[in-house]
Amino acid sequence: MAEVSYKTILDIQYDLKDGKTTVEALVNAYLQRIEENKHLNVYLEVFGEEAKAEALKLDKKIKNGEPVGRLFGLVIAIKDNICYKQHKVSAGSKILEGFTSVYSSTAVERLLVEDAIIIGRTNCDEFAMGSSNENSAYGPVLNAQDNSRVPGGSSGGSAVAVQANLCQASLGSDTGGSIRQPASFCGIVGLKPTYGRISRWGLIAYASSFDQIGPFTHSVEDAALITEVISGKDSYDATASSVAVDSYSTKLKFDRKAKIAVFPSTLNSEGLHADVKNAINTTLDELKADGHTVEEVSFDLLKYLIPTYYVLTTAEASSNLARFDGVHYGYRSPNATDMESVYKKSRTEGFGKEVKNRIMLGTFVLSSGYYDAYYSRAQKVRRILTEQVRGLFKQYDFIILPTSPTVPFKFGEKTDNPVEMYLADIYTVLANLVGIPGISLPLAKDDAGLPIGVQVLADNFKEADLFAFSKLLMEHKSVKQDTPTSTLS
Ligand code: GLN
Repeated sequence: MAEVSYKTILDIQYDLKDGKTTVEALVNAYLQRIEENKHLNVYLEVFGEEAKAEALKLDKKIKNGEPVGRLFGLVIAIKDNICYKQHKVSAGSKILEGFTSVYSSTAVERLLVEDAIIIGRTNCDEFAMGSSNENSAYGPVLNAQDNSRVPGGSSGGSAVAVQANLCQASLGSDTGGSIRQPASFCGIVGLKPTYGRISRWGLIAYASSFDQIGPFTHSVEDAALITEVISGKDSYDATASSVAVDSYSTKLKFDRKAKIAVFPSTLNSEGLHADVKNAINTTLDELKADGHTVEEVSFDLLKYLIPTYYVLTTAEASSNLARFDGVHYGYRSPNATDMESVYKKSRTEGFGKEVKNRIMLGTFVLSSGYYDAYYSRAQKVRRILTEQVRGLFKQYDFIILPTSPTVPFKFGEKTDNPVEMYLADIYTVLANLVGIPGISLPLAKDDAGLPIGVQVLADNFKEADLFAFSKLLMEHKSVKQDTPTSTLS
């Protein structure tokens, strides 16, 4: 099997500059690995020929000493809900089968400007709705470590693409945990930035006031660099913030003592796997031993998180997904006979079960008789949560909690019970409800060697601190464990 495993983009760039490898060799190695790992069902499409052509161009530039972008040598995959001009995009849905993007997302544009090579689009839960990748119209993605287990969702393909070294990094989207939870299940780093940090232009909407694009990587260094490149204001997205983007990748030294809040309610919650609890406690103990302050803070709103998230996101989804009507885009039912049946049959046949569940739930919570009881109330809870959590950051630098209550579960384990599946998101939805950034770090393993992610949350636009602190945590870990080596053969 082709071997290619670099911890950081910087390592790749050193090797490229030293002539130890070429971008062409890298792309070929990834393409070979993708071929050898087809059973994982990671890529819905591989842009092989294009990637090779781009690699040759880049190698020439490097050889001639011409200027190259900040991401030269980065081979990256994108989730199948991120638009890339003249490439197909389906959001893991049959309803968009055969649809080609007419423009690129801002995130993709910014990657390309810096010479990243996009190698393909990755499988995901349909319209990013799911926690296990079992809702994709194109079949589930398998966790590369144990093929009987889920990779997490909804960005399962993007997570396994990095886990199995089928690219150096990938982009996913996170509405309620879809980057952090699969990162946790695949033993890699996953970041959901502050809401508005990265433009949503060209991201197929699920719940617009929650959605954010973010990276999956092997290292905090790569997450910082990619985030830095794709962040920033954008005239195409009014919710993209104009707060200046820090040079995250050059500010990775955390040289003070942190004040950390933990919510005992999250650690005593029902359904929390003992090994996950131990992992968090070990991390907290190590931090205390290093002189950081860890304090317990009461947080009694835990039980409201999942209901609030599902009321608001399904409401937004029911509106966002109204545009898939058999007329504007993608699939149109061949069985339709008149206008109404075009809508009804195209949507009935084109959407999968979970998406239909959520559209109906969202339509219900927005309907006139129930609006105040559900939607308005959930908005109020969101406001209270935001005030409480943002208020905490006046006293604390970070909140630490698990990413997921469990290690990756088995296929089929939760598919019969949507509520149980939704509970898998209990620790991740908070960041999206409040808008704050969150990162999942692969800091532990259970007895069977399955990965456990530790989640760190910071205040709005404090990505620089979050990265620096994360690097510190990862360094702690690598003292105890072997780090991946940089090899290409
Ligand atoms: N698992 C959550 C859901 O199903 C989160 C999805 C996401 O972040 N896109 O909604």
